[in-house]
Amino acid sequence: MEANNSIKDYSKFYGSYAKLRKPSPIRELFKYTVDPSIISLGGGLPNPNAFPFKKITVELKDGEPLEIQGDDLSNALQYTQTYGLPKFTAWLKNLQIRNHKLPAADNKERPWNVGVTSGSQEGLALVFSSLLDQGDSIIIESPTYSGTLSILGPMGLNMAGIQVDKNGMIPSLLENVLENWDTLYPGKRFPKLIYTIPTGQNPSGCSMTVERKRTIYKLCSKYDLLILEDDPYFYLQFEMSEEDKAEGLVVEPGQPILGVSFLSMDTDQRVIRFDSLSKILSSGLRIGFVTGPFKLLEVMQNAQQASTLHASGVSQTIALSLLQKWGIDGFHQHIVKVQAFYRERRAVFLGHVETHLKGLVEYVSPSAGMFVWFRVLNTDDTYQMITSKAIEKKVVLVPGIAFDPNPEVNLVSPYVRASFSIATDEQMEEACKRFASLLQN
Ligand code: PMP
Repeated sequence: MEANNSIKDYSKFYGSYAKLRKPSPIRELFKYTVDPSIISLGGGLPNPNAFPFKKITVELKDGEPLEIQGDDLSNALQYTQTYGLPKFTAWLKNLQIRNHKLPAADNKERPWNVGVTSGSQEGLALVFSSLLDQGDSIIIESPTYSGTLSILGPMGLNMAGIQVDKNGMIPSLLENVLENWDTLYPGKRFPKLIYTIPTGQNPSGCSMTVERKRTIYKLCSKYDLLILEDDPYFYLQFEMSEEDKAEGLVVEPGQPILGVSFLSMDTDQRVIRFDSLSKILSSGLRIGFVTGPFKLLEVMQNAQQASTLHASGVSQTIALSLLQKWGIDGFHQHIVKVQAFYRERRAVFLGHVETHLKGLVEYVSPSAGMFVWFRVLNTDDTYQMITSKAIEKKVVLVPGIAFDPNPEVNLVSPYVRASFSIATDEQMEEACKRFASLLQN
């Protein structure tokens, strides 16, 4: 793709907090503490000699234990740089170079960086709050992740929802909104960014085809929008779409299914990508990582310095010791297993759905992620049913309106989100029976 609208100056994308925030002077000194010839009497580092921990041993389900001690333990227990532990960010940079076609991390033409956050949720909250002000507009998929709506809801934004279908956000609708902005949204500021969940979209379960990504990228380039690519299900793909295969994409035998990301096509440096270890190593580690243009990562870092300082060093060290032991190839082998695990969960769940819910709901088989998005037939709204009657029947689902970026306008939704990630086979069957009996009443 030709670079036709490279971003040189990001200041127009910054929100008012980001413009006013300065890097913390104390945390700025942190980088010098890694030089052993420097004596630091600055900062407020507690002395690890006073900490009671001697060693962290982690037993893996298969393989040798991981033992964290000595300097690695001291570094894990100590405050660290806001971007994350340097060895960990180095590992993550190599992963991003391999999976998203990024140049070397010190590349001058395309300066980029990685920042570790407490889950990608923190990354999203930091970036949104750094870029957006009350009255700003954004383009958002409809439906979209309710956790993002919890961030955006109170910010007083104008959210232009673009419908998704089985191949993700529909480009013609996006183009129409951008082209006719002033007519469709009179008096509203032109959007600064689009927010997308391109893989196993939460809640719809759909993945965007590479062809759509290219079209949407070009539109964002033409209209100068940032792209926030929230991709926690990137490593949870079950199959490649026929459309992507037709584009010549292939999955090498024995390798995980990984698509082509927005980040990998980012010739203009307008993509901020959010990855997460939550679905593939552990959600309790609370490790996400944000990859994007150096300047935008700096803005996120300033916000992080003013909130959590950095993601847990212990979590980062546990993840790193495992990832170093595996290497990227070993990590990919783990991903192959995780993909097979959830692919099987999906098959079991959809089997029960076919048996018990046929004729009551419509859905598209999700190509990634953990969710099935049911359109309940013969109803306009699922809210009452899901929030009261379903609970009486002892089945929990999420009503579609929870994922609507404009619930105050749309008011109702005939959809329901179900997750196939955690219930046992028997529980899945029983849940489908209970849901069916609810719909038959
Ligand atoms: N984005 C999306 C689309 C999600 O579904 C989730 C998790 N439910 C997150 C972000 C947050 O994930 P985490 O903070 O655990 O990385």
